Amino acid sequence: MANKTRIPLHHINSHIKLQQSMMTKRKPQSYDYFLVLDFEATCCEEGKMRPQEVIEFPVLKVNAKTYEIDSSFHQFVKPKHHPILSRFCMDLTSITQEEVDGGKPFPEVFKDFDKWIKEDVGINNKFLFVTCGDWDLKTMLPSQCASENLQVPAYCKKWLNIKKSYAIVKGEYIKGMMPMIKGLGLTHTGRLHRGFDDCKNIANILKALADHGCTFLPTMTIE
Ligand code: AMP
Ligand code: MG
Ligand code: MG
Repeated sequence: MANKTRIPLHHINSHIKLQQSMMTKRKPQSYDYFLVLDFEATCCEEGKMRPQEVIEFPVLKVNAKTYEIDSSFHQFVKPKHHPILSRFCMDLTSITQEEVDGGKPFPEVFKDFDKWIKEDVGINNKFLFVTCGDWDLKTMLPSQCASENLQVPAYCKKWLNIKKSYAIVKGEYIKGMMPMIKGLGLTHTGRLHRGFDDCKNIANILKALADHGCTFLPTMTIE
């Protein structure tokens, strides 16, 4: 007589997931989480905004074993110096005047972010910020903090520029996120230059590079 014992579906699913991860070249990482961050900021077509201010603050907490997004931080920020967005900025980022008007000023958002790091990520867990380029944590965050008389927390002073990981895997350093998506055979999702969508695409790049056997380590540290 046939054995009619049923195996619960979640057992089968977790077994498939385990098999899939064993089929890739994934390596163990020195981190518990990767924090994928991508700021959007005030901008105009001609020249630079002075001061340039963060208008969207999204961070994804990516599990360093499964590459799933475990949780996220996402807030719009109300700019202080140029509260009215330029038409160019709204067209580029798809961020609306209503979204920034409904946001909090940067110091409050940054306080919420620090709370999220401490409560949701855990300061004692090992995490590494991942960005596309160095602008977010080398330029934008320190200048915004300086203009608001805020300290840059120590945990924001080290990150991985994913373009460098891509260069190691593919042998060429490329400028934008879109060529990395194309080079890895991925599909772009959402709206380009919308921070939360950019983060999701960067997280997809991270996962694809992990499947190529990439080990992720910091590429820049500031004072
Ligand atoms: P990104 O993460 O590439 O979407 O860009 C981050 C920020 O850089 C944007 O929110 C803009 O402030 C600025 N930026 C990006 N691309 C351009 C561009 N073509 N012209 C002017 N500013 C830009
Ligand atoms: Mg960016
Ligand atoms: Mg972006």
